[in-house]
Amino acid sequence: MLIVMEEGATEAQVQTVIDRMVELQFNVHRSTGMVHTVLGGVGPEETVDPLVFEVMEGVRECRRIMSPYKLASRSFKPSGTVVQVGGISIGGNRVVIMAGPCSVESRDQIQRSAEIVARAGASVLRAGAFKPRSSPYSFQGMGEAGLVLLRQAADANGLLVISEVMDASQIEMVAAHADILQIGARNMQNYTLLREIGKLRKPVVLKRGIAATVEEWLLSAEYILSGGNYEVILCERGIRTFESYTRNTMDISAIPVIKKLSHLPIIGDPSHGTGRRDFVLPMARAAVAAGADGLLVEAHPDPDRALSDGAQSLRPEQLNELMGQLRIIAPAVGRTL
Ligand code: PEP
Ligand code: MN
Repeated sequence: MLIVMEEGATEAQVQTVIDRMVELQFNVHRSTGMVHTVLGGVGPEETVDPLVFEVMEGVRECRRIMSPYKLASRSFKPSGTVVQVGGISIGGNRVVIMAGPCSVESRDQIQRSAEIVARAGASVLRAGAFKPRSSPYSFQGMGEAGLVLLRQAADANGLLVISEVMDASQIEMVAAHADILQIGARNMQNYTLLREIGKLRKPVVLKRGIAATVEEWLLSAEYILSGGNYEVILCERGIRTFESYTRNTMDISAIPVIKKLSHLPIIGDPSHGTGRRDFVLPMARAAVAAGADGLLVEAHPDPDRALSDGAQSLRPEQLNELMGQLRIIAPAVGRTL
């Protein structure tokens, strides 16, 4: 149930509506906008008449939310969510670039990566310390030692940190070192993990599952939002289709679709989206042109020797080239870089 309060509704009126919602077994989520307060109610929507709320003092309108996801729906926050983290805004006018290697491999590798990323003008350093590899024999990541190195390298270069959490048991540790947590494609439907992340009060990037529809993806976001963690950023990273030339098929259309259906920021990952560094720049350009709020890009000081995802990792000069192109594309679509 979605209840939009009148402009200038008093706090007492808002509280009375919330109390009534709770009485009727709704779980209440409040969104305070510049003009209107919106109350989202998750509960017995089908059996409660919206009129019950519509006639209450200070209520402008009330309607049922027909989409299966409620809090992720654009109607819950028509103006869009802006996630604030460490002095940057994700979902605002500025396109936010997160770049770095697939994995933390060593102190030297992550320090050099951080320098490259900072010099290029990106604001967030990405790298995994816990890696979801398709084969158990592949490099699995450095764990906590990697997180410590990642944090040091980022701090030394004025960057924020994003890193993946694969399991609920790792949340506390990753959250202690990273500014943004990443839930990988393989875990998009790990509902126990999503529920635990919902209890956290820290930004999270939720990648699209390898074979997930937009609706399934938004329902996964709903798990996190319904726990009270509203700082969710979606990430299109390609889906599996019948095409095998590229590692995945990057669904650029998901960007405007998400913008229509949801208020959550969305970023694009052209590295996993294509699997090849020669295709990363065109798809990165396309994602920003299509309205992405940012990019998550793999870049490595020496990609040919990377321990994971080297083929899709940009060389330092390619990252610079990409940033130069985005400085032209972002303003062309009304954004800044
Ligand atoms: C990654 O970002 O390195 C990663 C493992 O991504 P995904 O979950 O999209 O495969
Ligand atoms: Mn990777």
